Amino acid sequence: MRSEWPDLKLTDFAIVLRSTTALGAPFEEALRALGLPYEVRGWGATARNEVVRFLVGYLESLRRPDDSEALESALASSLCGVGPRTISRLRAYARERSRPLKKAVDRVMYSLAARDPERYPLPWGGDAPAGRAEGAPQEARPEADFMAFLGAEELDALHRAMVVRERLLGRARTLPVASLAYAVLIEEGAIGRLLDLELSPEQREEAIAHLRSAIEGLESIELVHERMHGAKPLLADITGSLETLLAAAADDTEAAAGSRDAVQVMTVHQAKGLEFEVVFCAGFAHGLFPLDAKPHPLLDADDRAWLERFKVGFMPSWPSDPDGHLAEEARLAFVAMTRARRRLYVSYADGYLRQAGRSVFLDMADPVAEVHELTRASSRLAPEDVLLGREAEVLLAAHPTALSEATLARAAGLGLDVGFLTDPISGEPFEPYGDDRNPATVEIDHFSPTTLNDYLKCPRLYWYNHHPGLVEEPRSVAMERGGFLHEVLQDFHEHESEWHPLESDQQRQWLEDALQRHLDGYLSRMEGVLDRKREEKQVRSVLGNYIRSITGMQFIRRLGTLAVEKRFHLQLDGVEVVGKIDRVNDVGDGEVEVVDYKTGSGKPMRFAYEMYFGPELHDVQLALYYLACKDGLDDEGKPLGFQPRFLSLWYPKDWVWGGMRQDIFSVGRPAGLKEYREKPLTTEDLERSRAVVMNAIERIKGGHFEPAPRELPGTCVTRFGSCPHAAICSYGGAPPE
Ligand code: SF4
Repeated sequence: MRSEWPDLKLTDFAIVLRSTTALGAPFEEALRALGLPYEVRGWGATARNEVVRFLVGYLESLRRPDDSEALESALASSLCGVGPRTISRLRAYARERSRPLKKAVDRVMYSLAARDPERYPLPWGGDAPAGRAEGAPQEARPEADFMAFLGAEELDALHRAMVVRERLLGRARTLPVASLAYAVLIEEGAIGRLLDLELSPEQREEAIAHLRSAIEGLESIELVHERMHGAKPLLADITGSLETLLAAAADDTEAAAGSRDAVQVMTVHQAKGLEFEVVFCAGFAHGLFPLDAKPHPLLDADDRAWLERFKVGFMPSWPSDPDGHLAEEARLAFVAMTRARRRLYVSYADGYLRQAGRSVFLDMADPVAEVHELTRASSRLAPEDVLLGREAEVLLAAHPTALSEATLARAAGLGLDVGFLTDPISGEPFEPYGDDRNPATVEIDHFSPTTLNDYLKCPRLYWYNHHPGLVEEPRSVAMERGGFLHEVLQDFHEHESEWHPLESDQQRQWLEDALQRHLDGYLSRMEGVLDRKREEKQVRSVLGNYIRSITGMQFIRRLGTLAVEKRFHLQLDGVEVVGKIDRVNDVGDGEVEVVDYKTGSGKPMRFAYEMYFGPELHDVQLALYYLACKDGLDDEGKPLGFQPRFLSLWYPKDWVWGGMRQDIFSVGRPAGLKEYREKPLTTEDLERSRAVVMNAIERIKGGHFEPAPRELPGTCVTRFGSCPHAAICSYGGAPPE
C-alpha cells in the first residue's frame, strides 16, 4: 500500500477497534512482527503500562491486606524499591513453611526490630519483641535463615516499604481512592523511581500520560459513587476488581491524536473527529457490532432504577432501552466507517469467543461493497506483501498456477521449495525411504523419539516435517520455557556434589541461588514476548516445586545422579535412533531410574500408561530410553550399560498428593507405591512398545506416508492445536478413509 501511495506516512494508517483491551493484542503482535512502529490509545495500552500496573496492584494489596498474592505483586514491582531478589527469598521461605507471605515479612520485621529497634522500629508500632509487644512472638526466636543472605540495603528497602505500607493502610481508612492513589505514588516513592529510570523523554511522557488516565479513571469512579451515595468512596467501598472497574470507567471516548509517526491503534470512540488516509476497522462482527445491550459499566441495575425513579432530571449517559442502544451502536458504526479518506477495510472473523459472522451494519452500510473471503486455504496477499514464510507457503499452495515470477522469486528467497509447493501432485505417490529412492528434497536421515512420535501421530505429517523446503513452526513460548527449565535442572544435577551433602535448608538455598543466576538471562531473552512478572512467577513456581521435591523425602531410593542430558545412539532394524535422556539416577544394586521431565501439566498414572505402554500407545519415548539403556551407545561409541529399574515421568508443574507428580513405571518388580504413582510394567508391555517402534521404522522404510492422523494434539483432526502443515496438505482436516 505504501508503494501504491509513497506519500503516506505510518501515521496515516489507523486500526480502529471496539476495544483495544479485548481486541488489540493480535494487531500489536502482527505490527511488532512486521517491525512497524505503532501507538495504542485507550485503556488497553494504559492497563499494560508498568507504572499503572504497579499502582493498581498496590491499591489492590491495600484493599486486601492479607492476600499474599496481592502483597507479592505490590512488593515485586521495580517501582516499589524492594526488588525481585528479596521477594523471591521471602516467597521461597513462606512456601517451604506453608505460611502466607505476609507472615514471612512480619517475621523479618520482628527480627530487624530485635536487632536494632532504633533503626528498624516495627512498622505497625509497638515495642520490639523483647518488650513483648502485642502480636509479637512470645519468646525471642532465631532469625529466619534466609536473612543472612540479604544485604543491609535489601533489608533497609524492605523495612522502608513495610513502614510506608502500614502508613498507607491507615490512610486507606480515611482517604478516597484517587487521593490514596496519589499518596501511594508519592509516599511509596514510585514517582521518584519513575523519574530516575533511564527512559527517553517520549517514553517518560507516555508513562506519565498513562498514569494520568488511570487516575482520571479513579476520579470518575469517585464521581459516580459520590452522586450515588453522597460521598467519595474509600478503598473498602469498592466491590469487584479495581482493574475491571477502571477499564469500564476509562475515558476511551476522547479523540486521540498520534504523537509520533506510527500506525495508530484506537477505539472507535477515540476515532471520533479524526480522519486517516487508510483505516482498518476490525471486529465488525455479529455480537461485537452491535454489542448486546448491557447495563451501565458503573451502575448496577438497582442503582440505576433508583436514580431514574428518585433523582429528578437524572439523564443516564448509557441508553437503557434496546432501541436506544441499537441506535447508539449504529451511530458508532457510522463513525468507524467514515474515518478513512482514501481507503477503508472492514473485517470480521467467523468466531471470537463464540460464533460470530458479519455484523448487520455491514449490509446496511454498503450492500454492494467488494467482499473477499479469506480462509485458511485462500489469501489475497499481494506478492510484494509476502513477508513471512508461512504466508508465502499458504499463498503458493492456494494459488499454485496463478503466481507471477516476482512472487515465486520472493518465495524462493524465503527458502521455500517453490517447485514442491506449486506442484498439484506434490508428495504423491508416497516416496519410499532409502538412499537413491528418496526424492532429492526429502531427507529422512535420522530417527529420534520425537520424529517417531510424529510418525505415530500422522505418517504424512512426519513426511512433511522432513521436507526442507517447508516452513518450520517457530518455537513456541512453551518450548522456550521448557528449554529454560531443562537448562536449570541440568545445572542443578551437574553440580549435585556441591549441594547434596548440605543440610536441607542450605540445599534449598544453593538451588535457589542457581535458579536466580539463570533466571535473569532467561527473562531478558523473553522480554517483549512475555509479561516478565507473570513469567517469573510461573517458572519460579515450577522450579520451586522441583526444589522442594528433590530436597524432601523421596518415594523411592535415589542415591544420586549418574548422568544428565545423556545422548544415545541406538541401532534398530538398520537405522540409527538418536536421542537424549534427561537424567539417570542411581537407585542402588547396579540399577537406575530413567527420568524424563515434563514441563506441562501432568497426567494421572492410568493415562500415562495408556500413552506410553498401553495397547493404543502413541508415545515411544520411554520405550526408546529403555532400549537405549540396554543396547545404546554414547557419543564416544561406548555402551550406556544401564540396567533400568524405573522409567519415570516428572511433572514439576504439578503438586499433587503432597508431592511433585511423578509417574513411575517399574520394570521387573513393583516398588510398592500407591497405584496413582506407580505402574509395574509387564514383559508384554515392553514388547508391545518395542514392536510399535519397529513397526514405525519398517513402515517409514517402506515408504508409507499416507495421511492417517490420530486424534492427538498437533494433528488436523483434534481440537487441541492443529497440524502445522494443514494449509498445504491436500488432506488437511479430511484425510481419506
Ligand atoms: S493435515 Fe492432517 S493429514 Fe495432513 S499431514 Fe497434517 S495431520 Fe496429516
